[in-house]
Formats: sequence, structure tokens, C-alpha cells
Amino acid sequence: MPRRASSTTLRKDRLDLEGRLRNTRVSAIVRQPNATGAWPRLQLVPAFRRFVVYPLALAMPLRRMHRIRRRMPTPTQGTSTMKTIRSVTTALLLALSLAGGARAQAAPEASAATTAGLAASAPVSKFHIRPVDDAWRASLPRNADAATQAYLDRLPADTVARSNAYFEGGYWLQLWNFVLGLAISWLLLRRQISARVRDICLRVGRFGVVRDALYGVFFSLASWVLSLPLTIYQGFFREHQYGMATQTFVPWFVDQLVMLGAQTAAFALALAVLYAVIRRTGERWWIWGTVATMAMLVFAVMIGPVWIDPLTNTYKPVSDPVVKAAVLQMAHADDVPVDNVYEFDASRQTTRVSANVSGILGTASVRLNDNLLRTSLPEIRAVMGHELGHYVMNHIYKGLCEMALLILVGFTFAKWALDAMLRRYGGAWGLQGAGDVASFPLFIAVFSVYMFVTTPIGNTLVRTQEIEADRFGLNLAREPHGEAEVDLKLTEYRKPDPGPIEEFVFFDHPSTRHRIHDAMQWREAMGTP
Ligand SMILES: [Zn+2]
Repeated sequence: MPRRASSTTLRKDRLDLEGRLRNTRVSAIVRQPNATGAWPRLQLVPAFRRFVVYPLALAMPLRRMHRIRRRMPTPTQGTSTMKTIRSVTTALLLALSLAGGARAQAAPEASAATTAGLAASAPVSKFHIRPVDDAWRASLPRNADAATQAYLDRLPADTVARSNAYFEGGYWLQLWNFVLGLAISWLLLRRQISARVRDICLRVGRFGVVRDALYGVFFSLASWVLSLPLTIYQGFFREHQYGMATQTFVPWFVDQLVMLGAQTAAFALALAVLYAVIRRTGERWWIWGTVATMAMLVFAVMIGPVWIDPLTNTYKPVSDPVVKAAVLQMAHADDVPVDNVYEFDASRQTTRVSANVSGILGTASVRLNDNLLRTSLPEIRAVMGHELGHYVMNHIYKGLCEMALLILVGFTFAKWALDAMLRRYGGAWGLQGAGDVASFPLFIAVFSVYMFVTTPIGNTLVRTQEIEADRFGLNLAREPHGEAEVDLKLTEYRKPDPGPIEEFVFFDHPSTRHRIHDAMQWREAMGTP
């Protein structure tokens, strides 16, 4: 990941399944001035939040649910519910078209941010690393433990405290999101809201597949609206609070609407496919449900970089010939079939640094974000060596296989739990079995319990690949100091020095100490400066 200056965070890569399954791409994020940065955002945000957004965000979903519930009971009211659905859909399409226009206008300013420019914007960023020069690095002790500690000592105490607070707050957010998901399912199931929506969808759609797709649209919109207050808090206010967000509220919200559109299309497609499969396979639906889910996951990985990512960011070939040559040199050294490197304007959303390389079914691309491009060449080389490692070691395919196993066990559990719940509550909730799309909130609730409980397993599977990629990257790029510098920057949003159990449970990437130690261990063994 190329990152130009020292201040911001590098988000090396988020190689979760979603990111991993994209066409090979390496993206690096560089902090860049936001096009909307001229707005007096920071002063206005607290007041806006307190007096406008919070009350509205809290009031709107409650009122809407109240209205929907009132309209559901009688058949004649079904038409007014459809009007509501239709007007919501219309508003969504309108918002999407407006979003297109807004994005066209919000072309990022030329990223003329030099190191000086970044320093000038430093008051916004609360993240600092004590700067050093090459002489400092060369004079580091050979011993990996001591060198690692010297690197970590460059993080000021308040920076570490802020990073810890941000990351540990994320533990609680995982819990709140989980609880909220369960509450939404319960809300939709009780009083048979879900069953009634299914009946309305059938009246409109006439065929099972169309009904299930329409239900998917409903579920996507309903869960989005009901979780909006938490989404706004964790996605907008919290990111501003910690100085990582670069967007004002309106462009941020437009991005959310765009992603809601994509999510809704995905839900419609996924439910139509999944429930068609479940109904046709009887008692063995958990096996074929796994197969269908994996097929859709592969599809998502394939189209993600081509159709989804460009919805919120602009991708273009890297303009810096030095960076391009450096990345291609490493790619060709390991026979990665790419002839170009792409950058994207992640800085319009965040200060985090990131990059990714992915390739599936013959496609491959390397993408860095513009925040990464503002770092030094050794850092960019270290990050891209890591990303190429994911590609060369076939981490996408291995990740999919691991995921298939995890999902199969999940479906097994879901079948058992769903059958038990349906026996007990199916009648009261108006559900007609596992093949009834109205039972989807119950399925999601059960599956989310499983995913929540297995969080440490999922994290460890991903983290293991990240450690492998780090070591591959060191061997390829031969930049232990570039690696260590980037790792320090990642502290902006990831706790740098957790305990071993904490890292096992909560970390989907190794911690800063872990990664720097790997780099310093390589340096010690190889005897490089
Ligand atoms: Zn990675």
C-alpha cells in the first residue's frame, strides 16, 4: 500500500471474504482532501446531530412501523401497504439517480496534498506517530523483540489510548449489532407481520419466485430502516469522532442509499434462489441451501469489483509511473497475470490506507487506494507484496473452501434450530415451514446466532491467511521497515498491542505488534539494514 505521508492510517487490506473474493485488485488509500471539505462540517456536526439527526432517526422508523402495522390487518389495507412499498421504491430510485448526479459533481479535488498539506490538515487528525529517518531505522537493534519495541514506542500514549478505545468499542458494537438483528427478526415475526407481507407479495407477484424476490426487497428495506440509527452512529458519527471520516453527512448518506440499492437487489435475487432450492429439496434443504449460498457467494465475489465497487468510488490506472513499475515488477516476479495497477479515491470516505489483489476464475487486478499512494515507496512495496501473496497463495479459493465448511455447519445448525422453533412458534407466527419465505427472519436470526458464536473461528481463519501474506510480502518486497511503518499507521483503527486471547477472539488481522515483530524477525534473520 502506497502511502505518502506519515499521518494517516494505512489500512493494509481488509481481506475478509468479501474483499478477498474480488477480482485481483490492489487498492491503496491515501488521505486526500475531501471535495466537500470546504463545508464547515466539524463545528456543525454536534448541533446537527443533537437537534436534527438523532430525533429524526429515532422517530422515523418507529412511526413507519406503527403505520405498517396498522395497515396490515385487513385485505383492503393491503393496497395501501403496497402504496407505501411503491412510494418507498420510487423514493429509492429517485435517491439513486440523485446520487449519480451528486457523485459526478463531487469529483475529488486534485490530490495535491503533499506531506506539508497533510501536516496542515493535522488538527483534524488525532493520529500521530513520532517521525524518524533512515538512520534511526539502521541503528535499530538486531534483536527482533527490541526492534519491535522501539517501533511501538513511537506511538504516543494518547494515540494508543484512542486506538484502544476505538477498537474495543468495536467489540461492543458487534454485540449491539447482533442484538439489534435479533430484535428486528422478532419484530417482523410477532403479530405475523412477516406472514402478512408474504401474502401481499404473493398477491402482487403471483408466482413463488416473484413473491420471494419481493419479500427480499421488503426485508432489505425494513431491516435497513430499523437499523438506521445504529448505522448512522457507527458509520458516521463514530468515524468522525475518531477523525477518520472525510465525508459530510449528505454524501455519506447518499453512499448508504446507493449501497442499499445494491443490497436490496442482492436480497431479492438471493431469496428467490434460496427458497426455490429449499422448497425443491425437502428435508435435505440444508445441504442444497449451502450449495446455493456458496454459488451466490462466488457470483458476488466475481461481480463485486466490476459492478459494486464502482458505485461509490472511482477506479483508474495508477498515474505514478514509479509506483506502477514497482508493483508490476513484483507481480511479474511471481507470474501474477496483470499488466496494469489501479487506484481508487477511498479518501473521499476515509483516511484509512488499503489495497487489495484478487482474482477469481481467470480475472485478476491489483488496486491501491489513494491514501496508500501518499505513503513512501517502501511502504507501498511492502503492502503490495502482501496483497500479491494473497493472490499467489490462492487465498481466495482457500477462503471459499473454508467458508463452505463454515456455512455447511451453519445450515446444519439452522435446520435443527429452525425445526424446533417452527414446531413451537410456527403457528402463532403464521409460518408454513422452512420453505416459507416468511420464515426468513427466523432463519436469519438462527444463522446470526451461529455466526456470532463462531466469530473467533472466522477471525482466525482470516488472520492466519493475513500472517501468511505478511511473510510472503516480506520475502517478495524485502521491505521490513516499510512493513513496520505501515503497521504503525494501521494503529489508527486497530488496537496495537492486545493480549493473545483478545487477538484470537477479535482480530481478523494480526495486531501491529504481531506484524512488526514478524518484519523485525525477518530483518534479524536475513541481516538486512
Ligand atoms: Zn491481507
